[in-house]
Amino acid sequence: MKPITEAPKGTKDIMPKDIYKWQHVERKALSVAALYGFKEIRVPTFEHTELFLRGVGDTTDVVQKEMYTFKDKGDRSITLRPEGTSGVMRAAIENNLLSEKLPAKLCYNISCFRYEKPQAGRLREFHQFGIEELGSPSPASDAEVISLAKNVLDNLGIKGVTLFINSIGCKNCRPRYQQLLKAYLNEHEDSLCPICRQRLETNPLRIIDCKEKSCSKLIEQAPKMIDHLCPVCSDHFKELRERLDKMGIDYSLDPDIVRGLDYYTKTVFEFVTDCIGAQGTVCGGGRYDGLIEEIGGPKLPGVGFAMGIERLLMVMEACKAPFPHEEKCSLFIASMGKEASIEASSLVDRLRKEGICAESDNMERSLKAQMRFADKEGCLFTMVLGDSELADKRAVLKDMQTKETREIELDDYFCLKFGRILIEKQLKETLDAPLEKE
Ligand code: ATP
Ligand code: MG
Repeated sequence: MKPITEAPKGTKDIMPKDIYKWQHVERKALSVAALYGFKEIRVPTFEHTELFLRGVGDTTDVVQKEMYTFKDKGDRSITLRPEGTSGVMRAAIENNLLSEKLPAKLCYNISCFRYEKPQAGRLREFHQFGIEELGSPSPASDAEVISLAKNVLDNLGIKGVTLFINSIGCKNCRPRYQQLLKAYLNEHEDSLCPICRQRLETNPLRIIDCKEKSCSKLIEQAPKMIDHLCPVCSDHFKELRERLDKMGIDYSLDPDIVRGLDYYTKTVFEFVTDCIGAQGTVCGGGRYDGLIEEIGGPKLPGVGFAMGIERLLMVMEACKAPFPHEEKCSLFIASMGKEASIEASSLVDRLRKEGICAESDNMERSLKAQMRFADKEGCLFTMVLGDSELADKRAVLKDMQTKETREIELDDYFCLKFGRILIEKQLKETLDAPLEKE
């Protein structure tokens, strides 16, 4: 039988050697969100298919082409979430978050599933950090959410991203604009790709998002939503820009951002970088004033965004953003013989209980091999236990970087003494490090 050692197409294992990068991004995002008053919510990986048909929109690419949908054994149609907002809205309604203090501020770290053509920055299972602010129609919420996204990117040391904003109107002004757009595109139907010809009937706004050259060329000359906003949407957008200006957040207007999900109204925005090639949108978001009602909740507005973690990491590597150092093992206790091995395990156990990362040998390796292992792991200190160390109750501690050695007693104060040596070393490194320029 052929061994099954290949992951499904479009999925990626995240290896232990890289996990600190993921944890760094997730922690930073959550801690910045907390500064803005956002609390984490955890929702199921799958939902009733109907939720996404109504939320994301049944004529969008996501629903028509990209969803992982299946019947479960109870004959229910289930879908692996292609995005976070719909599920979070469902949970907020179901758990009465929207009848409590508003705005409700929620954030999440999730995996999403889309049946797409896998390529760099485009996977079938990918990860998002997202936030949702529910309850306020004011552009104050839009500005807050955009500021949060920017703050996360800044905190991660990501450089060279541009914020693009647009308004795509509301249910009062959009239908009239859609007619204008449709009339224009009807005249040029021959230049549209076959899919967009269908979209002309089902969802003309989606054509603005089409990546086909002939379609995007047509769209350049098409009427723009931004020129046909009703007074309410126009004022909303004006105030948002005022607020962003006052906050010192730079942006560019892009009348062709519509976003790929149907629930957006008024504000839409993207943070885009040009340093990782075609898949440069690291964050996308906007306002969704009809969504909560659409899926059966109260008539309440919302605004949010989602960041693609894989793309964030790609950008961070590309722009050489700093990652915190991986926690290194502080002490490797090598041993010779069974008695010493048992003593080593027990010392290591004591250190760990004091919050110090320590290792000993579980592989019955030779002393030479144990030291090679400690070296490869980058352990800060090593210590060897043999018969004489056990008899004297003292051993030699070696700093693996400076090669300095010193004796340490294996008594009741061992952990305390080693902890002190460790702190002194770290302090010295900090004091010796050159000051970084702001
Ligand atoms: P794109 O235009 O790149 O397909 P999208 O508009 O479909 O993006 P959203 O639904 O707004 O993306 O999702 C928010 C973010 O999630 C994107 O900006 C991107 O960073 C990330 N993302 C979306 N789809 C994928 C995917 N298949 N693989 C990896 N990341 C993705
Ligand atoms: Mg997409």
